[in-house]
Amino acid sequence: MAAEEKKKLTPISDLGEFGLIEHISEKVKIKNKETRTGIGDDAAVLDFSGMQTVVTSDILVEGVHFDLMYTPLKHLGYKAVIVNLSDVVAMNAIPKQIIVSIAMSGKFSVEAVDELYSGIYKACEAYGVDLVGGDTTSSVTGLTISVTAIGAAQKEEIVYRSGARENDIICATGDLGAAYMGLQLLEREKEVFKANPHTQPELSGNDYILSRILKPEARLDVIKKLRELLIKPTAMMDISDGLSSELLHICKQSHCGCRIYQDKLAISQEAAELANEMNLEPLIAALNGGEDYELVFTIDPADYEKIKDIEQIVAIGHVTSEEKGKYMVPKSGENIELKAQGWNAYKK
Ligand code: ADP
Ligand code: MG
Repeated sequence: MAAEEKKKLTPISDLGEFGLIEHISEKVKIKNKETRTGIGDDAAVLDFSGMQTVVTSDILVEGVHFDLMYTPLKHLGYKAVIVNLSDVVAMNAIPKQIIVSIAMSGKFSVEAVDELYSGIYKACEAYGVDLVGGDTTSSVTGLTISVTAIGAAQKEEIVYRSGARENDIICATGDLGAAYMGLQLLEREKEVFKANPHTQPELSGNDYILSRILKPEARLDVIKKLRELLIKPTAMMDISDGLSSELLHICKQSHCGCRIYQDKLAISQEAAELANEMNLEPLIAALNGGEDYELVFTIDPADYEKIKDIEQIVAIGHVTSEEKGKYMVPKSGENIELKAQGWNAYKK
């Protein structure tokens, strides 16, 4: 960064804690009738008049969950909100409010906070959510951001992990493995850059997988579509740790087994091409790569007709009795047992 550009940055101490909170809250406009009081009192006041509320929280720590070397702050703010909205949506609830808490070291400027919050506001705008509070504090090193999301649904609308039944159809939304491949690309280019800081990262032609890791979306569109079609999934989860891992959770909590079919799994061309180039198996990225924030859900077989032509929803298999185990049926060869695999499995 040029020296004169650097000079313009405002230290947070210029505003102080209360000044910074005011600065953050100035841009917030409340959208939901359920939000009675937002930022500014000791606590927010919400009114869901008879609806059930779902509450979820995720914490993102610099160096553990994100790397500011290749994560723009705006994207980080957006993603920190999205990962929480995705959990609300996975309960078949509509996200309504978020609470955002941040701890920052002295290296962050007011401008950096503005960048981070521009992504937070953008996600609030896109998903109709109100920012109703938070906490602001300093940290010894780096940035920590914690988001809590609140959503609402009628009691009978809420979908748990435990409701899958034998013969239900297993569905997944969108495509899988792209976020993982995006991360592999960023990590690779980071290593190249560290070895030779004069090189430019080679990221062209990979817009899709990069957007999947840096700027994911929550599938609010899908749960709205399912409501329109009068379909209530029997069980549902969002795919944050990889399809295999999420299916194992559903099977465990629903006391069932499953069969999914390799030829039904959607993998984007960009993800498949990069996986091949990096000597990784695209199928493994789809099964075990995380952070796609798609949904996996089960439906009554009677609902299959209603979803079969919807582009964003793919039927990938079916629920079996628990004794039949949890397997993927490959295009050829023996069934492969689903495992919540770790790192080593990615090597071909
Ligand atoms: P307290 O001392 O009671 O914790 P704060 O001064 O931390 O109060 O917060 C005052 C108000 O500002 C509260 O409504 C709180 O939720 C809100 N707030 C604090 N930090 C943030 C933040 N980073 N983003 C949004 N709202 C915040
Ligand atoms: Mg506080």
